[in-house]
Order: sequence, then C-alpha cells, then structure tokens
Amino acid sequence: MKSLKAQHHRLSSSEEEIQILESDMPGFSGDRFASELENSNLFPLKPTQIEVLQINLGKMCNQVCKHCHVDAGPDRKEIMTRETMKECLEVIRNHEINTIDLTGGAPEMNPDFRWFVEQVRAIDSEITLIVRCNLTIILANPKYHDLPEFFKNNKIEVASSLPYFTAMKTDSQRGDGVFDKSIKALKLLNVQGYGVEGSGLILNLVYNPSGAFMPAAQSGLEAEFKKRLSDNFGITFNSLFTITNLPISRFLEYLLRSNNYEAYMEKLIESYNPVAAAGVMCRNTISVGWDGYLYDCDFNQMLELKVSSEDSQHIRDWNQQSLTSREIIVKNHCFGCTAGAGSSCGGTTA
Ligand code: SF4
Ligand code: SF4
Repeated sequence: MKSLKAQHHRLSSSEEEIQILESDMPGFSGDRFASELENSNLFPLKPTQIEVLQINLGKMCNQVCKHCHVDAGPDRKEIMTRETMKECLEVIRNHEINTIDLTGGAPEMNPDFRWFVEQVRAIDSEITLIVRCNLTIILANPKYHDLPEFFKNNKIEVASSLPYFTAMKTDSQRGDGVFDKSIKALKLLNVQGYGVEGSGLILNLVYNPSGAFMPAAQSGLEAEFKKRLSDNFGITFNSLFTITNLPISRFLEYLLRSNNYEAYMEKLIESYNPVAAAGVMCRNTISVGWDGYLYDCDFNQMLELKVSSEDSQHIRDWNQQSLTSREIIVKNHCFGCTAGAGSSCGGTTA
C-alpha cells in the first residue's frame, strides 16, 4: 500500500477521509476498531438508551479554527431551517429526551436560534439545554451582545472551547485575537452569574490539545485552568472537559500534512480502554445534521455516515424503537473516543 505520509494536504470529500480511516497500515488494519470492540464483547456496538439529542444548527461560524472537525467558517451556507427545527420539536415533545445539545458552527448565527430555544423551553422547562458557544460570537456583532442574558433567561448551560489559558496557544489554534475576546466574553458570562458558585448557571470549558497528542488528565488541567483564569483575569467556571482530537476533517489534514497520522493513530490504538469504549457518547446520543439527517455522533455526521436504521434516517421519520436497536457505525476514527480516559462532548468517559 502506498504510504499515507504527506500524501494529502487538502481532503476533497468525506469518502476520501473514510478511505484513509479504512486503509490497512503497518501495525493496524482498516477495521481494527471493530476487532478491539469484539475483544471487549462490545461488537456490534449498540445504544443503551437515547437521552441526548445533539442538534447541529448549521456550519456557519465567525471563526475558522485549525482543528475544527465541522470545517466551519463564515463562508459556509448550510443552516437548519425552521421547518426542520419544527420536526426536532415534535421529537422532543413526544419522547423522553432529557438533554438538548445545540452545536454548529456557531449555533447562535442561525437566524431562528432564539426562536428554537424558546420553543424547546415552552415544551419542557426542566430539560437540560446546552449551547456550545464559541465565546467570540458574543462580541462579533451588537446583535449578539445580549446573548449572556438570553442564555440566563432560558436556563441554558453554556459549554465553550478555550484551548488554553494563555493567548499564544489559544490564538494559534483558533485565530489571532480570539483569546482576548474569549476572556471578555467569559467576564460577561460571569457578570450574569454563569460559572459563579451558588447561581445554578453552568459554564463549562472545553479543552482540546493543540497538536498530535492526547490531553493530559482532566482533573489536573481543570485545577490549572481554574487557578490561572482566576488569578490572571478573575474568571470562574464550573468544569473543564478534555476532548481528544479525532482524526477527521481539518485535524486529519493537519496529521497528514505534518506526517503525524500513523504515529497519532498508533498512540490512540495502544491507549484503547475497554471501559471508555463501553461509555462512548454514541450509546446515548443521536446527532441531528443541519438538514435533519440522523447520525450516531457529530463525527460520523462529518463523515456523512448516517445511522444504520434505514427506516429512521431523518428527524421527520424518527422511530425510537428502530434507533434504539440499531448498530452504531464504527471506524478507526472511533479510537479517539476510547483512548486513555475516553473522550466525549462532556469530557472523559472512564
Ligand atoms: S468555533 Fe467551533 S465550529 Fe467554529 S470554527 Fe472553531 S471549532 Fe469550528
Ligand atoms: S466517533 Fe462517534 S461512533 Fe465512534 S465511538 Fe466516538 S461517538 Fe461513537
């Protein structure tokens, strides 16, 4: 097989990404993840129950981060329509979903974002409602300045990426000036009570490594972030989630460009943890694409791998029974979720 090293600089399609992930490589085969699951008695991987609906409101974003697995940016036009949102609301109204996790792109850039949040709250005042806010959106345009107040009024949990507590590392991953704007936005959230003890308003930060390495222990990093953000900026937050970069999209391009793909995959494979495998987020989550199609997770969504339940591939055709008994589609990118202490949108899993 031709070496993958430095072969690609810009991936042209999700098919090409899947080809790479399915390639036999020295030391591991294209279906290595499935074999590991088999050894752990977890293959085929099945859901436990569907508790979380993660909804991608669109790929438009005010940032263009280096490792974005969504390949989001200001020029992306894919956006969820109000009609598809209404189909999501039908599912929320009629099923026992306990968490709605809104993501993008920058979900707040969808013109119907606020309408959708209010509709969800009208259906269920207690449901956990998370927004993955990139922080800088709050300052991007006056029309977003009141987002912290809007979040508070709708009892939204805020989850925000902050690659590091210094400007240099944050800006190198997310763009010039992002760190300063993120700090300003965090202060505005703190003013509303977010991340402040006793307020009940949750502000979690998300850390992902800036290169081809796995995150350090979540608890140690959280303590360090808390100390540095408090000492240097007076900022408080609730928890830090560490996330392992999965080898897809812009991060896969980076791995190939920097000749790190094989070494990174080897690291993930040798760190396979069966406990983390049993707790992967696709077992209790369904990911909804901007156009309403359903996926096992956000990563499979980016690889255009729809759920295997053929009668329930779109939100309008939601079939709880079929989705709960489906087989989750796994490929070698899944090693990113099962390495070490595990990785999910809510941090470690083991
Ligand atoms: S803020 Fe998030 S969605 Fe936007 S480019 Fe960065 S990683 Fe992607
Ligand atoms: S990448 Fe998706 S499908 Fe694979 S283990 Fe992780 S959450 Fe599950």
